[in-house]
Amino acid sequence: MASCLRQQTTICDVLKKKQQLLQLDSLAWQDVDAPLSVGDHEAMTFTYDEACDFIIKHFSAFPKLTAFTKHALENRWVEAEDRNDKRPGGYCTSLPEFDESRIFMTFTGSASDTSTLAHELGHAFHSDVLTDVPYLNQHYAMNVAETASTFAETIIANATVQSARSDEEKLSLLNNKLEGATAMFMNIHARFIFEDNFYKARKNGVVSHEQLSKLMTVAQKEAFHGALNTYHPHFWSSKLHFFIDDVPFYNFPYTFGYLFSLGIYAEYLKQPKNFEEKYIALLKDTGAMTVEDLAMKHLGVDVTNVDFWAEGVKLMAKDVDQFIALADQLENN
Ligand SMILES: [Zn+2]
Repeated sequence: MASCLRQQTTICDVLKKKQQLLQLDSLAWQDVDAPLSVGDHEAMTFTYDEACDFIIKHFSAFPKLTAFTKHALENRWVEAEDRNDKRPGGYCTSLPEFDESRIFMTFTGSASDTSTLAHELGHAFHSDVLTDVPYLNQHYAMNVAETASTFAETIIANATVQSARSDEEKLSLLNNKLEGATAMFMNIHARFIFEDNFYKARKNGVVSHEQLSKLMTVAQKEAFHGALNTYHPHFWSSKLHFFIDDVPFYNFPYTFGYLFSLGIYAEYLKQPKNFEEKYIALLKDTGAMTVEDLAMKHLGVDVTNVDFWAEGVKLMAKDVDQFIALADQLENN
């Protein structure tokens, strides 16, 4: 597509490279999130206690986040046992009566589960900083709901990549990070296109399941830039979000939140000194301001200008470049 945006082009490159590394003729829908193991290396693993220590250590540039995390972990706010019949993933809920949160997740010992634990702790931290603002200002909109979680996850995902003991391990960890970017720019984008087209079609009457599957495939092909050889026509039936009928477009806030959080992270990298105070002040206002006002008041940046978003995308593009370079190097060895 001539109008292919840079981030989509580069993620297409990642998918192409992944296909080569997996030694496949073409990439199918289910291969997008396939683990990548090149060469002879043992995947980075953590016991639950090691993951907690790793997170506390790497949050250290943010003393309040660190103190909060220690408190949450020491007081056993997290139920992370990996047991039969418990599904993967993570979830955080706040308990407003007690000014506390609880995290429910399955920790299998992988680096990506360590990032998930950090993500959920980020949600809990967001709730915690809001406890001392008036109750009616504590409820933030979906577009900023993933700000603190993605920020915390980014700190830890970067730390795992930096802790890699070999190039093979680094490639696998970068793959984990880029799976997140692929989900945000392609999978979530497909959901948005699908939903947009669904509402247009619904104006003309009931949309049959055959039409829904067709709309889904068309949306996925567009969002993935035709990079796959098979798609998932029934995705509309398996994704819970489409059935939450009082919240239309339960998709774009993920990509928006991811980009907003990456933009904030880029600001942090520019001026790390005393950044946490600004960051917490921003989180405290998430239930009371538009994103435009939040970013201007607390970071002095204009989110209506493309530069703010481009700074965040550049961080992701760096991962892409590193992934491609490492993959080329390992292929040539
Ligand atoms: Zn989240």
